[in-house]
Amino acid sequence: MRVGILGGGQLGRMLALAGYPLGITCEVLDPAPDACAGQVAPHRCAPFDDLHALAAFADGKRCITYEFENVPPQAAEWLAMRLPVRPTPRALAIFQDRLTEREFLRSLGIPVPAFAPIEPSEPERALQQVGLPAIIKTRRFGYDGKGQWRIDTEEQYLRIVRQQSQPLLMEAFVAFETELSIIGVRSLQGEVACYPLIENIHGGGILRYSFAPARVDTSRLQPVAERFIATLFDVLDYVGVLTIELFLVGGRLLVNEVAPRVHNSGHWTIEGAETSQFENHLRAILGWPLGSTTPRGYCLMANLIGELPDPQSVLTIPNAHLHLYGKQPHAGRKLGHITLRHDTPEERMQGFEQLQAVVPLQG
Ligand code: AMP
Repeated sequence: MRVGILGGGQLGRMLALAGYPLGITCEVLDPAPDACAGQVAPHRCAPFDDLHALAAFADGKRCITYEFENVPPQAAEWLAMRLPVRPTPRALAIFQDRLTEREFLRSLGIPVPAFAPIEPSEPERALQQVGLPAIIKTRRFGYDGKGQWRIDTEEQYLRIVRQQSQPLLMEAFVAFETELSIIGVRSLQGEVACYPLIENIHGGGILRYSFAPARVDTSRLQPVAERFIATLFDVLDYVGVLTIELFLVGGRLLVNEVAPRVHNSGHWTIEGAETSQFENHLRAILGWPLGSTTPRGYCLMANLIGELPDPQSVLTIPNAHLHLYGKQPHAGRKLGHITLRHDTPEERMQGFEQLQAVVPLQG
């Protein structure tokens, strides 16, 4: 059973690792010669728009999926004419542009922060529509807080808009209580399962820690978040894992971002859920039954960013599971993660303190 993954980063690596026990071999396509999934799975090193490489990549595969949303939709559509591409390339096209993403969500009645496209010839219009404080975001290729500027004054706003040549949008700054995410999966037969809401702490725009299940009371929020997921699944006839990043503000959920893929805030599911997000994604895209998304206790996931701690000091922490991605250290780069799995929320908080001594929260 062979599956092709467009993109060969750590998400592709963890998908490939989840496949082996089930007899699934994943091959990754990634233009970077040192793509870290290539250490654990066959790696075809080629640009995403190389049709010869795409044809060879498709050969012998049961289906194709993707692990990063900046794959050109044309490449996914070209492949979809030859074999199943799951999730649908339409999801890729909609969610890789922050403007089409927000317009799509709004059209479905899913709440998002106030936003407006910035027209370079008439920048004042977006400013009037959205107001201050705000965030300017590039429409494309923004991730981990890159391509974002917090704006408090009109002067700042006009300066950033004049400096940038790429398409931008303006979004109201949300003074959120906390950030949450929900990860859901839909099978080929239309069966849906969701993991519990996850609470995320960012520093400098990058995810640092995820608590799963969330520390805040989510009993009224979980059904709301699951409805957002169900709406997107239905309208896109979606197959695979999908993630929604959310702001909790005034007791309400607003959607920040949708990722049509497995997600960093779901890494805890490897040890902390009956079935990991990676295994469930593979099961879904192959038309297999989904596995249970029930959590096994209380998890905390910490990203290892820019530099790596001494593995031995991590492994002295009770119930710590270390995952290294085989990447060269570089400032701001996600190099690995640690998951702590405990039986009670109290033990998890003790673990958090132990962990902070090893992985300080920066930014
Ligand atoms: P993003 O790359 O859009 O997920 O943004 C990275 C992080 O920046 C988010 O997780 C938030 O912490 C912060 N952020 C993004 N958009 C907003 C907003 N409209 N208001 C406040 N914080 C934001």
